[in-house]
Amino acid sequence: GLEEGPKARDGAVTLTRAPERLGKMSGHKYGYGHALVLSGGVGRGGAARMAARAALRIGAGLVTIACPPAALQENAARLDAVMLRSLRNAEALDALLQDPRLNALLLGPGLGLRARESDLVARALAAGRALVLDADALTLIAQDTALRDALHADCLLTPHDGEFARLFPDLADRMGGEAATGPAYSRIDAVREAAARAGCTVLLKGPDTVIAGPDGRVRVNAGVYGRAAPWLATAGAGDVLAGIATGLMARGRTGFDAGQEAAWLHVAAARRFGPGLIAEDIPDILPALMREMG
Ligand code: AMP
Ligand code: MG
Repeated sequence: GLEEGPKARDGAVTLTRAPERLGKMSGHKYGYGHALVLSGGVGRGGAARMAARAALRIGAGLVTIACPPAALQENAARLDAVMLRSLRNAEALDALLQDPRLNALLLGPGLGLRARESDLVARALAAGRALVLDADALTLIAQDTALRDALHADCLLTPHDGEFARLFPDLADRMGGEAATGPAYSRIDAVREAAARAGCTVLLKGPDTVIAGPDGRVRVNAGVYGRAAPWLATAGAGDVLAGIATGLMARGRTGFDAGQEAAWLHVAAARRFGPGLIAEDIPDILPALMREMG
């Protein structure tokens, strides 16, 4: 796994080495899990497709996108390796989840913010499976105490500063608001407290990404070998990160390990590509990284 570097601030440790053994695979595709990515409607599926592609590239055995019926055609035209299911309404998710092999779910990228989507988040949480919540799903959770209360240990939340501030306004204030530069109450303390409150892993994105488990462990991904990738701050990059983490959870990683490995791989991929990177470049860089890492 990832090597833990010197103690950073506040008892957190800095990641200093690539994850290992991601490229070592053998056996049946079902041994590598089956990720389910929920997509938004027509014209808003790009984020979910990028996430699904990332989950496939990082080695999930199977990936299914579930989308409103009208969006099936659009998805089918753009991704071949992924399976598609139509999700007519929120109840249809329960039927889909009858299949116990769907072992990791991603909700949020391009999902939408209506009652239907809120219901989807509730049903996904009730399924008690590995679950990555990002983007719109985080906004929905921030608006609804019942959803927040349904979070469980196999959830991974991947907010950026704005989403974090919506979910944990008091903690964001204490660390200096959305800009999160306040030294008095560090990002590390804030994310640790957020994870304890949520009862699951919280990954706060930024130039330095902070990952905290509900048990108090904290990791900081401050670039790869000390080198940042500022061109990673591009539209859709967060959706790809969520997809990588979902793929890793499908492969059996805990939310905490998936979060820290995904954060590392994400920056490593961006560094390898260099300036000019767009989000959809990231998934296709992952195989070379895995080959190198052994
Ligand atoms: P999102 O806002 O959801 O698209 O996620 C943005 C992604 O870009 C996250 O993975 C962040 O860690 C990364 N990111 C944001 N700002 C910077 C920055 N200044 N330098 C490097 N990476 C960044
Ligand atoms: Mg995002």
